[in-house]
Amino acid sequence: MNPSLKGNPHPRGVASSETAREINRDVLLHSVHCHQPVSRADLARLSGLQPSTVSVIVGQLIDEGWVVPGEQGRLPRGRRPTYIKLNDRHVTLGIDLRPDNVHMALIDINGNLLARETVPLAASQHTDEDLRQLLQQIAQTARTLRGTASDLRFDGIGVSVSGRVAPESHRMLFSPNAPWIQADLCAELERALGMPVEMENAANACLYGERWFGQLGQSSHVLVVSVADGIGTGLLIDGRLLRGRDGMAGEFGHMTLEEGGPTCACGNRGCWEVFASNRAALRYYREFSSGNEVASFTQLLGLAKDGDLQALRAIDRMTQYIGRGLAILSAGLAPETILVVGDCTTLWPRILPLLESQLIAKAIRPCTPKLIAATDGGIARLRGAAALVFHKLLFRHSELGQPISIAEEHTDAVLPAWN
Ligand SMILES: [Zn+2]
Repeated sequence: MNPSLKGNPHPRGVASSETAREINRDVLLHSVHCHQPVSRADLARLSGLQPSTVSVIVGQLIDEGWVVPGEQGRLPRGRRPTYIKLNDRHVTLGIDLRPDNVHMALIDINGNLLARETVPLAASQHTDEDLRQLLQQIAQTARTLRGTASDLRFDGIGVSVSGRVAPESHRMLFSPNAPWIQADLCAELERALGMPVEMENAANACLYGERWFGQLGQSSHVLVVSVADGIGTGLLIDGRLLRGRDGMAGEFGHMTLEEGGPTCACGNRGCWEVFASNRAALRYYREFSSGNEVASFTQLLGLAKDGDLQALRAIDRMTQYIGRGLAILSAGLAPETILVVGDCTTLWPRILPLLESQLIAKAIRPCTPKLIAATDGGIARLRGAAALVFHKLLFRHSELGQPISIAEEHTDAVLPAWN
C-alpha cells in the first residue's frame, strides 16, 4: 500500500499517474464488488472519485472484461443510469486439500460453484509414489472441470490446505494431520497442473473467502477458526493478516489445554485440537456408546441430526472444548468477530448457544465477540481458495483487511465526459 494513503478510509494520496490509476481501479472494483449492481453515479459517490475518472476507469474495466453493463435504472427525470456488475464469466479453480479428501470446484467471481468434484485420499497415501498418483488424479480432475467451462474466462488456481504455508515461497511448513506433507507441494501442484497456483492455509483462505463472498464486511478484528480433523485459525487483527515468524502464526490448535491429555499428531499431548476437532468428537462418541464406532464425522452429524443421544453428547463435548479455546483467544486477541468454519456448523442452532455461554462465562469485559458460521461450512474453504486468485488479480494495491483509499494523479489530463 502507498504509505501516503494510510489512515482514514478515504484520504486522498498523491501517486504517480500509473500507480494512482491502478489504485483507483482497485477502489472502483471494490465498490462494484460490494454494491453491485451499481450505477456510475453511485460509484462516484461511494468512492469519492470524480465522475469523469469513474467513467474512464469503468470503460477500461468493461474493455478488460472485469465488469459488464447490466440493466438500466429508472429515475423520475433525466438520463437513465446503466448498472454495472462484475462479469461472472470469470472463473477460477478452487482446490481444498484435506487429510482425507481433495475437494475441487469451478467457482465464478461472485462465489457461485459451477461444478464440483472430490478426489478421495487413501489412508496409506504417504509415499512419493502415492503423492505422484494423487497429483495425477488432481490434474486429471482439474482438466475435466476446466473442460466444463471452456467458454468462460479462466483466471487461475487457488489452493487452501490443512497446514501452514510460507507466505512467499508457498512451501509447506507444518501439516501434522496430512498424509501428503511435502515441503514443495505447491511446486508439485504447479508442475502437475501446468500453471501457477495461489496457496494458503485453509483458515487464512477462509478469511479471504468470507471477505470476498461472505459476511465479514469491513471488520478489522476477525478470528477464523477452522474445525476439521485438526483446528487452524486465521487472524485478522488491526486490519492485518497475522503471519508471525516464517508464517507460522495461527497454530492455536496446538496450544496445550490439558497436560497429559491425549497425544496429538504434532507430538505433544493435550493440544486444543485433540479435544475440539472432528476426530475428538468421534472419540467421544466411541466412549459414550461403549465402543461403537462411526466411520466419519459426516456420519456422526447424521446421527446427531436424527436425535441419537450419544452423537449429540459427543458434539456437545466437542463444542464445549471449541468454546474453551475461543474464550482464551478472545481474552488475548480481542476479536470483534469469530467466524467458525467446518462441517459442525450444520448444527449451528445447537452449537451457537453453547459457544456463546462459554465466551460469556469467561469474558473479561461485558462485550463478547460476535459469533458467526461460515456461509456454507462445507464449501467455505473452496470459496477461500478461489478468493485467493481474485484478490491477487483485482486488488493489487491493497492488503486483506485494509481500507482501499483513492489516490490523486499528478496529471491534469482532460478526461472525456461520462455516459
Ligand atoms: Zn498438537
